[in-house]
Amino acid sequence: MSNSAQSNHRALRQRIYNDALKTAMTERGLLPDRLLTPESRLHDASPALNALYESYSWAAHSLKARAWLQAAIFFNFLLMSFDYFVSPSLLVATLIIRGFIMSSILLGLYFLWGRQRASWIQGATLVVVSATIMIGSGALGALGGVSLFERYTTGALFTVATAILFFPIGFRWTVAAVVTAIVLHAVMLVTGPVRDPLLALSTSYFYSGAIVAFASTRKATLRSQWNSFKSKIRELRDQEALAKLNAELKVVANLDPLTGIQNRRSTQENIARIWDDPAYAKPAIAVLMLDIDNFKQLNDTLGHATGDDCIKGVADKISLALHDGGIVSRHGGEEFLVVLTDTTASDAFAVAERIRKSVESLQLNTPGNAPASPVTVSIGLALWAGDQTPDMLINRADEALYDAKRKGKNQTVVAQPPQDISAHPGQAHSQKAHDAA
Ligand code: GH3
Ligand code: MG
Ligand code: MG
Repeated sequence: MSNSAQSNHRALRQRIYNDALKTAMTERGLLPDRLLTPESRLHDASPALNALYESYSWAAHSLKARAWLQAAIFFNFLLMSFDYFVSPSLLVATLIIRGFIMSSILLGLYFLWGRQRASWIQGATLVVVSATIMIGSGALGALGGVSLFERYTTGALFTVATAILFFPIGFRWTVAAVVTAIVLHAVMLVTGPVRDPLLALSTSYFYSGAIVAFASTRKATLRSQWNSFKSKIRELRDQEALAKLNAELKVVANLDPLTGIQNRRSTQENIARIWDDPAYAKPAIAVLMLDIDNFKQLNDTLGHATGDDCIKGVADKISLALHDGGIVSRHGGEEFLVVLTDTTASDAFAVAERIRKSVESLQLNTPGNAPASPVTVSIGLALWAGDQTPDMLINRADEALYDAKRKGKNQTVVAQPPQDISAHPGQAHSQKAHDAA
């Protein structure tokens, strides 16, 4: 595999690993940040985290244990011919001990590891492996005479050591298997054909050292697996936190801080999306451009803070008057843009007028209760009429807004269609402000 193919492969595996972990956690209703404390360890971790680890690491563990058992079963059969070769008188014994008893036990364990079991059952399999190999080999060795007995018991210890290295089970069960192997070894040397307690003690002592070293290697492997599992969970937690932060940032980036309504950038995105979405009929799209009348004067007489309150109040009035039937955004200082969809010329005009009248009812809290003239807005309304881009539609609304200002403010002016304005001189019309009750 080339370098890049290899790293692609690794990335893919990583993603599958993460997805599987995430799915397992979601199924259990576990949140990564709730599961972990920085100091959580294998034994003091929450039961939920342990259960997750067990089920998550199961597949890899089963693969290893079954690979070892498969090799042991194969090797066990090979040794039957070896038994016969070194001592033909062992034929019947090896057929019974290796061919039937040991093979059946190992095969049984192989099938046991085919499905996830309680961790004590997994752990106990290593003790069974240890006992099976020690007793089976020891028995055959004893039948074959002193030198074969020594060779077989030593070989059995070595085989158990590889199982201890290989079997992905907890440390306590590893220790139990080690003790089983060493005790059986010593017992066999004392009771077997050698019958030399001193030799039994010294060889058991010698091999115990090696096997304990293997067991401690096992412990280190377990710890590093656990640590990498924990760092996976931390990674997921960080990813989630980052995604949440990004979502919050996105919301904040789309809002106008003063009024809390959308900002210009966000509306530009929205209108572009609507424009490109075939679900929205273009002839039913309209935009309103609104501008507060004589706002500079309001700022100058009542102060900037009241000006800000006025902008906020107008934003609220527009939002309320829309009844959720459009998108409103702050387009600039005291200008607002409303996007309507699924509308008609008369409906859009009615919406504009509803907004305009609603703004007239805005009450400002003025400093020292200074008298304030009513707040009004002028509105330019543009209905889609073959406009190529959202900007063209917005520009026409803007032009209509200027018309409204020129015609005396506090009114709605409908924009001219885009093509040939002079051909439709009667198009623009306005609604005067003096129709308030
Ligand atoms: P017209 O009726 O023609 O719209 O007159 P106007 O005075 O409203 O017109 P203009 O657009 O010139 O004035 C807008 C003023 O709004 C200018 C600026 O100082 C003020 N302004 C812009 N943004 C803010 C803001 O966030 N807060 C406040 N208090 N004032 C703002
Ligand atoms: Mg303005
Ligand atoms: Mg203004």
